[in-house]
Amino acid sequence: MKAIKLFEKKPVLSFEVFPPKPNVPIESIYETLEALKDLHPDFISVTYGAGGSVPGASTAEICETIQNRHGIPSIAHLPCINETKESVLEKLDTFRAKGVTNILALRGDRNPAVEPKNDFHYASDLIAFLRAHGDFDIAAACYPEGHPEADSLDSDIAHLKEKVDAGASHLISQLFYHNPDFYAFLEKTAQAGISVPVEAGIMPVTSKKSIERMVSLCGASIPKRLAKLMARYADDPASLKAAGLEYAIMQIIELLENGVDGIHIYTMNNPDVARYIMEQIAEDVPR
Ligand code: FAD
Repeated sequence: MKAIKLFEKKPVLSFEVFPPKPNVPIESIYETLEALKDLHPDFISVTYGAGGSVPGASTAEICETIQNRHGIPSIAHLPCINETKESVLEKLDTFRAKGVTNILALRGDRNPAVEPKNDFHYASDLIAFLRAHGDFDIAAACYPEGHPEADSLDSDIAHLKEKVDAGASHLISQLFYHNPDFYAFLEKTAQAGISVPVEAGIMPVTSKKSIERMVSLCGASIPKRLAKLMARYADDPASLKAAGLEYAIMQIIELLENGVDGIHIYTMNNPDVARYIMEQIAEDVPR
């Protein structure tokens, strides 16, 4: 099923998982998927070499399992800076063979240990290439606070428009912790002529270390209220996790009240966290 169809019934609720590291058997993700399936997400997306890491077990294989074993639509992430046109065409053949019809087209994070290939410079190059080589539904990433390398939020949104014009049918946002930033971003994208659905990316704070790492990677800002919680529970990991989950639930409920197109939860392969959140928002997004 093409993921864009899911937005006909707003709001869409989706999860993101990542493949196990190369030295871990692929089976380790199956237990996670088994638990996530019971939460009835509209789709599950699967990362590929995220954070500049070496790509792990097959994203396509995991997508196939999500679709065929669990009956849930999936989206395969596909970063392009380290790919050639030939290698992308090979991946598309694999996607077709496994019934994967949805791709999140990305430039990808730079890995200092890997010299980028020069066939694709930006995600928009990949989107145009995918459009010319198949009938995939293509999503793209967006950044409510601007991509860290962008000169300004306005220039980043101008490049986002290029991705939509090239053929991205919906957008999934980078994580953010301050909803007003997301609302302001939606206003700016609308002014720029972007009218495709935009899902809000939510990553619950579950530990001080994980949040610090993510924020340093993606440049998201920490609002005062969250900073206070992190300071208050700096030496109490269990209370920090509980407060972090409540913060994420508050964020999601407010976003839903404001009519967002969808919520994309970065599950970090933790079904317990996803389950707790889904239970708390059940009234707002009946499954
Ligand atoms: P682009 O849209 O190409 O933008 C990258 C930068 O280039 C931006 O600053 C943009 O403003 C600028 N730019 C774009 N076009 C032009 C142009 N024509 N001229 C000049 N500047 C331009 N990474 C992974 O490796 N694997 C994953 O699985 C993965 N999943 C992700 C999922 C989501 C929902 C998100 C939000 C990010 C994900 N990432 C992943 C991270 C992503 O690859 C990085 O953020 C990367 O740095 C940018 O990717 P992009 O597709 O947004 O790039």
